[in-house]
Amino acid sequence: MTTKKFDVCVSGSGAVARCLALALSSNGWRVAWAGTEQGPQDRPEDIRTYALNSRSVALLDRLRIWPALQSAATPVHDMQIRGDGRGHLAFSAWQQCVSELAWIVDAAALERLLGEALKFAPHVTVVPTPAEGRPAVDAELLAVCEGKSSATRAALGVDFTQADYGHWGVAARLRSSQPHLGVARQWFRSPDVLALLPFHDPEPGASYGLVWSLPKARAQEVVKLPAAEFEAALRQSLDEVDPGASAVVGALSLASHVAAWPLALAQADRWSGPGWVLLGDAAHQVHPLAGQGLNLGLADVDTLVSTLTESRQIEPWRTAGDERLLRRYARRRELPTRAMAGVTDGLLRLFADDRAPLKELRNTGMALLDQMSPVKRWLVGRALDA
Ligand SMILES: Cc1cc2nc3c(=O)[nH]c(=O)nc-3n(C[C@H](O)[C@H](O)[C@H](O)COP(=O)(O)OP(=O)(O)OC[C@H]3O[C@@H](n4cnc5c(N)ncnc54)[C@H](O)[C@@H]3O)c2cc1C
Repeated sequence: MTTKKFDVCVSGSGAVARCLALALSSNGWRVAWAGTEQGPQDRPEDIRTYALNSRSVALLDRLRIWPALQSAATPVHDMQIRGDGRGHLAFSAWQQCVSELAWIVDAAALERLLGEALKFAPHVTVVPTPAEGRPAVDAELLAVCEGKSSATRAALGVDFTQADYGHWGVAARLRSSQPHLGVARQWFRSPDVLALLPFHDPEPGASYGLVWSLPKARAQEVVKLPAAEFEAALRQSLDEVDPGASAVVGALSLASHVAAWPLALAQADRWSGPGWVLLGDAAHQVHPLAGQGLNLGLADVDTLVSTLTESRQIEPWRTAGDERLLRRYARRRELPTRAMAGVTDGLLRLFADDRAPLKELRNTGMALLDQMSPVKRWLVGRALDA
């Protein structure tokens, strides 16, 4: 039984904070949301496209966000991954017996829809975000969803060890001269990893969201290039890793501004304590090559809300800030997050080494893996349910 004004104070302004506030509210928890409804006015709109897995889609569907988001989303039916030799790995929704491997959504639209839904959510009170320190809100639990640079996490004394990849993720929207046919494509080589995610905007059926991981200095050059030079640099990179790529993806032209984010691998040493818990990038950061960062954050939301809600039914004496209860959430999330971080980090390191024997080995490994249907099914299962 609580005497506090709120059960949970959610601190943060991104998709994870918004989703958590909505999910808690829809389960009857009294929520204070310490977040800003709009991003900074001086920053251009987020041009990233996110690959969402089926668990994230199911959560957004329960929150009634998915129908509006789906009308502007693109399903991925096939995924083609190429190495820097003859290595090739193909996944298809049909072979994996699922209706799609992922959905590609607009990052800005997702945040906007979540923000609009929050305005009408019962049990959610917007409270001011503090200039510094943790929000001064009378709540049993403080849920920290402030992203990788969280100040509240630091104030709680949590260690967030970050291994900088020395790479930045360059993102842009591209128009193609050929239809994408719902195929996501990715190329691994040293030093860059390049992904083209099929999208419908600006050209229905013939657009891509680009995610291009490059060494920091090169990424900083590339974001400043005029459109024609950017397109030439992209074409050159594709031709070098895969001479057949241009024939498959068509001529690519820039259809947005170009932005870049620093990439790191990071994990908090503790995810919970008495009256506080971490979620999303405030708890973990992974390389975007597998498109799993937000999926992991939304799985944190799903797990925290079900852990709290189950406990309210079977052990009603525990409050939302109960340390043992929060440890249960942390235990459920730490292992799958570490596993996903290990897979993405391992892949990246495997392709970062340019020595010829290793190059031959990884490409042979990819070709072999491509023949192993049960292993591929297991990998897809993990990615669909981060
Ligand atoms: C290039 C790129 C491509 C990506 N592609 C994918 C993909 O395809 N699929 C996928 O799943 N993931 C992807 N990711 C990862 C994904 O972007 C992140 O995992 C996700 O944005 C994390 O969400 P979050 O809400 O935890 O943190 P953030 O998005 O960082 O949001 C946190 C917000 O809280 C605000 N904040 C900080 N402190 C406070 C405070 N005290 N009070 C209030 N607000 C505060 C911050 O300013 C920020 O706006 C990609 C990442 C990159 C860089």
